[in-house]
Amino acid sequence: MNKSRASDRILDLHNFGEFGGVNPSISDSSTYTFLSAKTMFDTFGGNTEGCYLYSRHSSPSNLYLGEALAALEGTEYAHVTASGMGAITSVILELCNAGEHIISSRTIYGGTYAFLKNFVNKFNIETSFVDITNLETVALSIRPETKMIYCESVSNPLLEVADIKALAKIARKKGIPLVVDNTFSPMSIAPAKLGADIVVHSLTKFINGTSDCVAGAVCASKEFCSALKDVNSGAAMLLGSTLDSLRASSILKNIRTLHLRMIKHSENALYLASRFEEDGLRVVYPGLASHPGHELMSEQMIAEYGYGGIMTIDVGSLDNANRLMELMQHKNLGYLAVSLGFYKTLFSAPGTSTSSEISQEEQDKMGLSDGLIRFSIGLDDDIERTYITMRACMRRLGILPKDEVLV
Ligand SMILES: *Cc1c(COP(=O)(O)O)cnc(C)c1O
Repeated sequence: MNKSRASDRILDLHNFGEFGGVNPSISDSSTYTFLSAKTMFDTFGGNTEGCYLYSRHSSPSNLYLGEALAALEGTEYAHVTASGMGAITSVILELCNAGEHIISSRTIYGGTYAFLKNFVNKFNIETSFVDITNLETVALSIRPETKMIYCESVSNPLLEVADIKALAKIARKKGIPLVVDNTFSPMSIAPAKLGADIVVHSLTKFINGTSDCVAGAVCASKEFCSALKDVNSGAAMLLGSTLDSLRASSILKNIRTLHLRMIKHSENALYLASRFEEDGLRVVYPGLASHPGHELMSEQMIAEYGYGGIMTIDVGSLDNANRLMELMQHKNLGYLAVSLGFYKTLFSAPGTSTSSEISQEEQDKMGLSDGLIRFSIGLDDDIERTYITMRACMRRLGILPKDEVLV
């Protein structure tokens, strides 16, 4: 891999449409003809490079988007899926057989947590949920039947930063893959370059950035991606979470501006996090010196793209959180909605929404409090104006002291 930036590697790709269009043509077929019966036979055996068989296996549009994602993460190959969960579940079921074991960070996306906690036990696969920042615990949790270590580079919703280099070292020593979900920090963190074997994404969030679709990706070696779509045994091929070509082509157009968007999301989030911390609120953002993962993130990130667009503020109670979110929506500061990576700020209370799969007792253990609001900061051009309006909402509700001048 050369030293070029991920953004330029994406922009350097050029695939013209069949009539010289500046965008590749959208593949509008579920099935493909063969000139000879023998080629069809060989393609089923996985031997014929460049031949398309059936669009659940692969399609030109999906391969173009895959190329862009491999360029983003600096991996040999990427396989796109119909959702982030489609990518994550395929990877897990590809790597683990019945009776085997997974080590996972305990602070992960609610859907992934639910899959590992409640679903894979159907196959007698067991998961140990650990504090991923405690490297000793991670190493000690490895058993002979452990098949993978799983974490998020910056975790949802608590923004814990994983030491990917150190985790990769632990995994490599035991000959097992490190799988990293990089949904929160595209461009900023390149897990594969830090030693992760497999990088998964929900494209639904920052990468697509327009909150108009659900999609995912697995960035890894060509060998692993080919295994995922093997017609006889591949988890992605057989579970069938295939992305539609039309959607793949629209995501490809959006990923080309990801670098610009990430810079702005990060700049705005850092501004608001710093200001609200100065105001005395409990703000969690990896770009703040007060964040336990701040130094680690600074070491492993690509500085231009900043610390990402997600921050949390604990406003003390669920009631405060709900009232503030409703007021902020009313003032057009953003939308009370789950998900992230939109041009508009999105906010939700993870304890009662995206992480509600996690039991109250476990939420308490990991520090997920009721008053926590997760913000996905938007692309506002005048962020100071946003800050002033948001602060006024907090003052009105007594979350910040009322402005003395006004009283
Ligand atoms: C949203 C999300 C997912 C799941 O992705 P979908 O596209 O909704 O299936 C996985 N991991 C993280 C960190 C997410 O934020």
